[in-house]
Amino acid sequence: MQIDVLTIFPGMFNAVLGESIIKNAQKKGLVKINIIDLRPFSKDKHGKVDDKPFGGGPGMVMNPEPFFEAVNYIRRKTKDRRWKTRVVLLTPKGATFNQKLAREISKYEHMILICGHYEGIDERVREHLVDKEISIGDYVLTGGEIPAMAVIDSVTRLLPGVLGNKDSVVGESFSENLLSHPQYTRPADYKGTKVPEVLLSGDHDKIKDWRKKQSLKTTKKKRPDLIKRRSS
Ligand code: SAM
Repeated sequence: MQIDVLTIFPGMFNAVLGESIIKNAQKKGLVKINIIDLRPFSKDKHGKVDDKPFGGGPGMVMNPEPFFEAVNYIRRKTKDRRWKTRVVLLTPKGATFNQKLAREISKYEHMILICGHYEGIDERVREHLVDKEISIGDYVLTGGEIPAMAVIDSVTRLLPGVLGNKDSVVGESFSENLLSHPQYTRPADYKGTKVPEVLLSGDHDKIKDWRKKQSLKTTKKKRPDLIKRRSS
């Protein structure tokens, strides 16, 4: 999978993409992530990418031109590969991101993520360039970079070969509209707080059964909406 990110703050991505599992996934060639600075695509001699909103109001709105130019540039560069490119806009007005959406996106061959800033992006970008709009929750951030990182992280870990053990994504939270069961590791007794006996029993059927029950119990308590989704 290739992910191209359009941003005016490319430096924000270094730490997140340069560490841990996402770093290794890129090293192994399982995902290619290009962070693309939007400013060089501006026709303005000072590299300006925003302007005052028509009709008045506070703040600045990002100009459409750099986004159109950048997306066309990426499309020209990737033309020979015959990929189906999806352009995804990070916006609080989008569909709320969840594990189902992450799984859907992990099937894409090529995605361009668009990060807005200030008061947002000229509406014509959404109308004419964008295939999908994603929000990471009902709150407003200063820019689309953190949402883009959240999408990249959750999608990359679902790509085949990225996680050491492919079973890691089986039974984790949201995989069957359930939250994950609790996990324990050594020591079995930490200052008197003990690991549930069943996990030390070596009886795999019993452990599986216990985990399923715990998973249902936690989900019923914390996210009853997920249980409703399971039965509908
Ligand atoms: N004026 C816009 C509104 O009220 O919908 C908010 C603009 S926000 C300050 C600037 C940029 O941050 C947006 O263009 C978007 O790219 C990003 N952003 C902010 N919150 C987000 C969220 N919850 N999910 C995805 N992107 C978000």
